[in-house]
Amino acid sequence: MHHSPLATRRSFLGGLAAGAATLGWPARGTAGEPERPLGVALCGLGNYSRGQLAPALRLTRACALRGVITGNRDKGLAWAREFGFPERNVYSYATMARLVDNPDIDIVYVVTPNALHPEHVIAAAWAGKHVICEKPMANTVADCNAMLAACRAARVRLSIGYRLHFEPHHRELRRLAREGDFGPLRRLSGGLAFTINRRVWRVEKALAGGGPLMDIGIYCVQAACLAADTDGAAHATFAPVAVRAREHPKRRADLFRDVEEGITWSMEFANGAAGEFSTSYNGGEDRFRAEGERGWLEFAPAFPYGGIQLRTSAGAPRVGAAPESQQALQMDDFARCVREGRESPVPGEMGRRDMVILEAIYRSAAAGGARVEVKV
Ligand code: NAD
Repeated sequence: MHHSPLATRRSFLGGLAAGAATLGWPARGTAGEPERPLGVALCGLGNYSRGQLAPALRLTRACALRGVITGNRDKGLAWAREFGFPERNVYSYATMARLVDNPDIDIVYVVTPNALHPEHVIAAAWAGKHVICEKPMANTVADCNAMLAACRAARVRLSIGYRLHFEPHHRELRRLAREGDFGPLRRLSGGLAFTINRRVWRVEKALAGGGPLMDIGIYCVQAACLAADTDGAAHATFAPVAVRAREHPKRRADLFRDVEEGITWSMEFANGAAGEFSTSYNGGEDRFRAEGERGWLEFAPAFPYGGIQLRTSAGAPRVGAAPESQQALQMDDFARCVREGRESPVPGEMGRRDMVILEAIYRSAAAGGARVEVKV
């Protein structure tokens, strides 16, 4: 999937013009919040768009919901009425190349099943739109490369929907890792699991790319990299040097036909940090722990949309109140990145890094737990 069959070269060139002229590259901001919030079009109107992103876009200040891309036109028209945008801003996956002619939309947020992310991200880039892509970025590193190349060529920004980077307890983890209150965080562990008991796209390798590792194990990978990175200067590409992994025996082979039901893996970092993690679609777990020589911190639960709890050996950390919406913070930050011409703290390169790590974990599991080096 290296280019969208939907987008033509003409629309790609048009996209370049739109990127330079109507979006302003880099945009020149005025002091304070600019007059017009950037327009966001959600691509894929499933559970995450409906339950989290659309409500968050009522709270954002730097961007607002101005369009949709959906396979169901009636649903799109109902969204237009509900969110107050014109019917002309309802697109299908087949017509999204025409976004190139629509100045209402500055950002496309891709929220479709994982296998479709490359096609939709590349189509949005060719239409000259900045892009947020949900995690995991794609099903392979090769697809991530194609997405990054398309966004670079179209001179649009790309970020990944890593909402927790904007969450105060995870920001405290980042601070502790970098400022070293407890010493370097060297011993890491975590787990994330929930139960799937019917056939949905998340258990189909062709659409999901894999099982729980792709979908939720990726949160442990994210937290581990955040905890182990004592420097932070090149965090988007900071990665372990090696991993080892073992797939769990399947209790529901009928359901988990071509994806793992669960997997346990370890990560080994160059600076001596190391961790052990697990993820499963047949259980319930949500935690992360990091220990240094002088203290520890523990998240339970670690990764939900709200209600994250953090304890440390020094007591309850002083963090701000949990935000009403992690996603609103995440999308507002991206809109400001676009306006101010700066890189997102969760750029496409970070989505690619995580795919490099996940591919190494799968290779190790396939090789019976062999140590596999990670080269980002
Ligand atoms: P979902 O199944 O609820 O929605 C997927 C949408 O894509 C549906 O509207 C569906 O109609 C559409 N679609 C288009 N083509 C499709 C096809 N060929 N097969 C199936 N559906 C198709 O899924 P979701 O939970 O909204 O997840 C969507 C994406 O968002 C995934 O990449 C997922 O990993 C990500 N996600 C991220 C978070 C987060 O916290 N960042 C949370 C949930 C989901």
